[in-house]
Amino acid sequence: MTTDAKQPNPEFAKKVVEAGGKTLNLCFQCGTCTGSCPSGRQTAFRTRKLVRRAQLGLKDDIMGSDDLWLCTTCFTCYERCPRGVEIVDIIMALRNMSVREGHMAPQHKKIAQLVSKSGHLVNLRDEDKAFRKKLGLRETPPTVLEKPAGLEQVKKICQITGFDKLVAGD
Ligand code: SF4
Ligand code: SF4
Repeated sequence: MTTDAKQPNPEFAKKVVEAGGKTLNLCFQCGTCTGSCPSGRQTAFRTRKLVRRAQLGLKDDIMGSDDLWLCTTCFTCYERCPRGVEIVDIIMALRNMSVREGHMAPQHKKIAQLVSKSGHLVNLRDEDKAFRKKLGLRETPPTVLEKPAGLEQVKKICQITGFDKLVAGD
């Protein structure tokens, strides 16, 4: 007899727990997280399902999936979970594992590349400078944007830690 049922992989589930998802097995699948998720209202992402897949260790369903990158880390589910499951920590652990296996959403990759190149997630545009001036602020904030030595340090950290290689590519 053949079956299409997916086989649980406890080893992978254990790795998720060890990677930061220590509350993973507290989840009793009530679905409060899914019902609270603003991202899930706009997409097919279902938080409860992702947590269940992690509990079962369904690695192939998680690594490389688009769902993993649809969480905005707003923490609503985290605050509402009746079991105290640290859902965002689980998602972060899964993302870290996914990136190490070469899967990262292109948009996240682009932003990560900006950090290693400019030390910031968002570039400072001329419009931003003008708006800052209008608010009575310095045109450029006192960050690596005006401290080249600081930016060199950021780049060095990215290089030493392997972060720049991890997020390289299209
Ligand atoms: S709200 Fe908490 S217990 Fe309920 S499904 Fe989500 S993670 Fe599991
Ligand atoms: S933290 Fe992520 S999964 Fe949780 S409610 Fe916000 S977007 Fe949804």
